[in-house]
Amino acid sequence: MSAACVTVALAGNPNSGKTTIFNNITGARQHVGNYPGVTVERREGFRRFQGQDMVVIDLPGTYSLTANSMDEVVARNVIIDEKPDLIVNVLDASNLERNLYLAVQLLELERPMVLALNMTDVAEQAGIKLDEKSLQRRFDIPVVGLIGSRNQGTDSLLQAVVAVSEKHEFKPFSLDYGAKIEAAIRQMMDLLAGLDGLKYPLRWLAIKLMENDADIRRTVAVMPQGSQLLPMVDAIRNKSTVMLGEDLEIAIAERRYEYVGEVYRDFVDSRAQVTETISDRIDRVLTHRVLGLPIFLGIMWILFNMVFTVGEIPKGWIEEGVKWFGDTVAANLTEGELRSLVVDGMIGGVGSVISFLPDILLLFLGIALLEDSGYMARAAFVMDRIMRAVGLHGKSFIPLLLGFGCSVPAIMGTRTLENRGDRMVTILVSPLMSCSARLPVYTLLIAAFFTESMAGNVVFGIYILGIVMAIVMAMVFRKLLFPGITEPFIMEMPAYHLPTLRSIMLHMWERSVLYLKKAGTLILTASILIWFLTNYPAEVQYSKDYDAAKTAVRAQYGEETAKPMLEQLDKEQAAEKISLSYAGRFGKAIEPAIKPLGFDWKIGVGLVSAVAAKEVLVSTLATIYSTGDVADDSHSLQEALAADSTFRPLVALSLMVFTLLYSPCLAVLAVIRRETNSWKWPAFSFAYSTTLAWVMAFIVYQGGTLLGF
Ligand code: GDP
Ligand code: MG
Repeated sequence: MSAACVTVALAGNPNSGKTTIFNNITGARQHVGNYPGVTVERREGFRRFQGQDMVVIDLPGTYSLTANSMDEVVARNVIIDEKPDLIVNVLDASNLERNLYLAVQLLELERPMVLALNMTDVAEQAGIKLDEKSLQRRFDIPVVGLIGSRNQGTDSLLQAVVAVSEKHEFKPFSLDYGAKIEAAIRQMMDLLAGLDGLKYPLRWLAIKLMENDADIRRTVAVMPQGSQLLPMVDAIRNKSTVMLGEDLEIAIAERRYEYVGEVYRDFVDSRAQVTETISDRIDRVLTHRVLGLPIFLGIMWILFNMVFTVGEIPKGWIEEGVKWFGDTVAANLTEGELRSLVVDGMIGGVGSVISFLPDILLLFLGIALLEDSGYMARAAFVMDRIMRAVGLHGKSFIPLLLGFGCSVPAIMGTRTLENRGDRMVTILVSPLMSCSARLPVYTLLIAAFFTESMAGNVVFGIYILGIVMAIVMAMVFRKLLFPGITEPFIMEMPAYHLPTLRSIMLHMWERSVLYLKKAGTLILTASILIWFLTNYPAEVQYSKDYDAAKTAVRAQYGEETAKPMLEQLDKEQAAEKISLSYAGRFGKAIEPAIKPLGFDWKIGVGLVSAVAAKEVLVSTLATIYSTGDVADDSHSLQEALAADSTFRPLVALSLMVFTLLYSPCLAVLAVIRRETNSWKWPAFSFAYSTTLAWVMAFIVYQGGTLLGF
């Protein structure tokens, strides 16, 4: 006779192969629902093996069992509340060290457990020799090797499950946290021993309270004598923090990692010849303690110089093409409102943005090469020490790097961060990384105001400023808004490989389509809107009678001699008209606020409209300058800016700094709202970044003016 049905919970890291093994075990006999009270998916299946019935639960994938995410709390609550008869911990054998970190925490929950060493094929390919016996001896629990994707080892696993479930015994496991912490744990256990209706293992509860686990504190608070206990719990915590001289949570987490490291080294060293692969050798240089950062900066410097110099050539062609198109359309339309709308508004606005397509493609080419080759992961590793110094996880650097492309995927990429504080801080600082939409603004201003030899350095400098500001703000937010610890860095280093041409081309193609789509929709709409705002109201009250002045000049000098004077009057009139337009009035109204940064009302209009999308700054300036430019000698926008007396290199620099730092665009604000589930955070993001931009641009402009630039 075999026992009644046993429940088996599958736990493990995300992507360790849990669901694959779950499917191997249960076949089609499964159903999917939600965990009570939360929308985390719950899969349950049934299996009879050698006369033993079992119900298998696929727990959410987690890296740890601290209360950092919903998934982690769900996973441990199922284990504590539902008391499955045993846990099968699925481990990715090719990333064993990281996976063992969870295994140790599961063992601390004091439930019978089996280790399913999955992905042994991948481990073997990577040259990792696995010694199941040594791991089995170490923890004194069964260890089974599997290849889930080929359904190998499923029966051995089930045999181990049946054997363990028949024994009904658990050999206690306890990790030694060192004399000082252990003494405090014992005190804590004495304190808690009297609690009635304790559903947690005593030692585990004590450790969690030492770690100041919010979820557990809440649970204790509602227990009969719980509320009186908490002050005593805190007293023990405080005393041992003082004795230890460091934060308890960090000390406990560190000790766990240390232990996992020991187990891992034992386990691997017992057999494996640690061979150094080519990847390892490259890594030794690229992630070198001292050289790593300069190498990273050097690669970035080359990238931005390449984007700028190579991008100029096709950009010239596109500009010619757009100009030809505009001229052709103009020649076929009669002079008037419609022609102005189509040529100055639509073609001028959209064309000014399209000509930056090559720069953007080159930037994405660079990012794709760095990503696909595996270098990005190394860059994150190199940055980890800096990130950690400001209280962020090294893993945060990956979303930040994605921010060079666009902040939207960067913010979505923060989902990989387990810790809420890490995630929120990364979401808030991601927009400070200079996204590709800002590149047209820099390129335009640099081409107009800086020499070609300086160009690459200026772009590089702006990007570095973005990184530095992101790091500084991260430190501030971490301290003020989301205090807490950062877990040590564990990340897979993908092997280096040559990116395939196909994937790179596909990526470029997608980017082009996206950019052109944006130009054809959002930027076209914004251009039309800006054209109306700069051309209306149609009738304005001029400060003087231009027609009378022109007639007077003609009468006095004759048509021929008066020509330059008439042109001058036309220019003045056009300039006055646009400054009296809706856009002009709005710009003048906000001008006092941006005057200290060196900006005039035109830049003000551009900056406000560019909250829609940063490229709109370029198209808006294009429309404003071409509307005001009556002589129709068809300056390029770049020449028009260079000829404008408000602009000089210092103003251009101040404007680049402001563009880099001020409010994220609407799409990004919307994503922040979605990812944080609150309007508070996009509002905060808007406010802090615009303030920061103002202050930094002020420093640049006023400082530069004082220094005589
Ligand atoms: P989960 O996130 O833990 O549920 O992981 P999944 O079961 O979804 O597996 C993640 C990926 O790993 C899938 O693409 C599986 O096909 C693959 N996979 C699972 N087990 C193995 C294995 O033993 N070897 C290899 N090479 N791949 C596996
Ligand atoms: Mg899964």
